[in-house]
Amino acid sequence: MAAAMARLLGLPELVAAAVATFSVTLPDWAEIPYYRNGVRAGSLIAHRTLTHWPILWLIVAIWGAYEGGLLGSAMLGVAMGAMTHILGDAPNPMGIPWLWPTQRIRIGRKGWWKSGTHEPFMALAFAALGFVIWRLAGGMT
Ligand SMILES: [Zn+2]
Repeated sequence: MAAAMARLLGLPELVAAAVATFSVTLPDWAEIPYYRNGVRAGSLIAHRTLTHWPILWLIVAIWGAYEGGLLGSAMLGVAMGAMTHILGDAPNPMGIPWLWPTQRIRIGRKGWWKSGTHEPFMALAFAALGFVIWRLAGGMT
């Protein structure tokens, strides 16, 4: 099955998609959280700072595009997975650091919605967006 999909989609696309799938939660666990009594007590990197900075992942994406090959595909996948997570966090009241890694900015006065709401809608929207970008880039032609 994987070999048939690799022939249909191309190995670089499969690598990017697989890595992106596993990188969607990367910005949160890259903060290196620590727990007390099974409850998250904090993290070594402050929540929603450096790991949620879109410019960092944009640099990784550009570097991956420059690198090319399977490593570049993996880097693009990591960046796209992380960006998906960050764009999902952006409408929350806490906001994300759009411009500078230590300064979060929320959308509107209260944000648009709380974390965890509208996840099925966002997953479908990001999947549709990814499909459209892949087709526009010449996928399956
Ligand atoms: Zn997050």
